[in-house]
Amino acid sequence: MKVLKFGGTSVGSAERMRDVANLIKGNRNIVVLSAMSGTTNSLVEISEYLYRKNPDGASEIINKLAIKYYEHVEQLYRTFEYKQRAKELIAHHFDYLRTFTKDLFTLFEERVVLAQGELLSTGMMNLYLNEEGVNSITLPALDYMRTNKNAEPDPVYIKEKLHKLLDEHKEADLYLTQGYICRNAYGEIDNLQRGGSDYTASLIGAVIHAEEVQIWTDIDGMHNNDPRFVENTSPVRQLHFEEAAELAYFGAKILHPTCILPAKLNNIPVRLLNTMQPEAKGTLISNVMDKGRIKAIAAKDNITAIKIKSGRMLLATGFLRKVFEIFENYQTPIDMVTTSEVGVSCTIDNRKRLDEIVDDLKKFGTVSVDNDMVIICVVGDMEWENVGFEASIVNALKDIPLRMISYGGSNYNVSLLVKSADKQKALQTLSKYLFHNKPSES
Ligand code: ADP
Ligand code: ASP
Ligand code: MG
Repeated sequence: MKVLKFGGTSVGSAERMRDVANLIKGNRNIVVLSAMSGTTNSLVEISEYLYRKNPDGASEIINKLAIKYYEHVEQLYRTFEYKQRAKELIAHHFDYLRTFTKDLFTLFEERVVLAQGELLSTGMMNLYLNEEGVNSITLPALDYMRTNKNAEPDPVYIKEKLHKLLDEHKEADLYLTQGYICRNAYGEIDNLQRGGSDYTASLIGAVIHAEEVQIWTDIDGMHNNDPRFVENTSPVRQLHFEEAAELAYFGAKILHPTCILPAKLNNIPVRLLNTMQPEAKGTLISNVMDKGRIKAIAAKDNITAIKIKSGRMLLATGFLRKVFEIFENYQTPIDMVTTSEVGVSCTIDNRKRLDEIVDDLKKFGTVSVDNDMVIICVVGDMEWENVGFEASIVNALKDIPLRMISYGGSNYNVSLLVKSADKQKALQTLSKYLFHNKPSES
């Protein structure tokens, strides 16, 4: 059995839903759907109005969104009976959303609001498949997908409940389920964070020991650079789990960073495919390493660099521990680290506790902060004994000021910290030199 996940654009219109239905029909797989594109953003906006006690603002967005859904119904279903059923489904969810405009609105209610997008998309797809004569069954994510007290998925619970549901519906032609949504340790409706449907797919893949997890989206696989900023990017055919994890973590939006670990731990290949071009090969992510090559570049925005300079660092055991402990105390993860004998630089992407961190760091030395930075991450087979690739990366960026360079932490990446203003130029220049064989001029 395979797990196939379709993202927001893949189910973003009646036409796309029909395409997905054609792709999934005929195989007894588990299909994970995101909300139709734009829906989760609208639900976030509705919640913002409700937090600000502006029910009219919320109602306006709810009504606009409802109109779009009724249009999809007209376009998607052929028969009066299924149009009626779909309208009832939509009325149910939108009437429910309208009840939130009357009461107190907290984080708890917000999560319930955010869950409606995936409930709608799976409900609509299920009806469409039924209309087409497919005996599809929806496995309600809220009945099996669960996080524990540390907000981490609980694989034992997920496995037990999911297998029970699958056993109860052995007759099904295929299974549909909602991405992103779950319950937390207290049984409340919750989610796996924005973009988390990829995570749902790999968690399911892991507990059912799927043959493969497929992430279907609007592009033909992981490209060798961010197509939103660089022209002429091309798909990478094969990636190692570690390479894909680095790329996802450092900004390759095609894959949610949490998606890789469950697949890697259970050695389940992950294939990235294009709903609009199903025949394209896409990218296969597995534990096979395509040796001796730089594969791709990604960028992570909104980075803050913090430098601590200290004369006392010289020969001081425990200095780094004390510095890192401060970040830990404020629950702020560090992405990059570089050290010298007189100082250490770290980067963070969560600025919430920055002032407190800086205050505490001042005990150990002089602290300076650079905001608006970007980590550029170059990924590939970068074992230290392979010569030359670091030189070509740094050489390509010779006209761009580099605040930090980090290499040797793993065999898979070189990370460089640049100003946000230099991001696009850095990505484009790296593509030119590393993938389009422009000889370096130095
Ligand atoms: P979905 O809604 O299907 O989850 P996403 O929008 O999350 O899709 O991810 C797909 C998008 O990721 C692409 O449209 C593309 O713009 C963006 N993207 C960013 N970096 C890369 C990359 N290296 N390769 C492919 N796509 C990328
Ligand atoms: N619908 C959710 C979002 O837009 C989850 C997902 O699409 O993966 O973030
Ligand atoms: Mg996504």
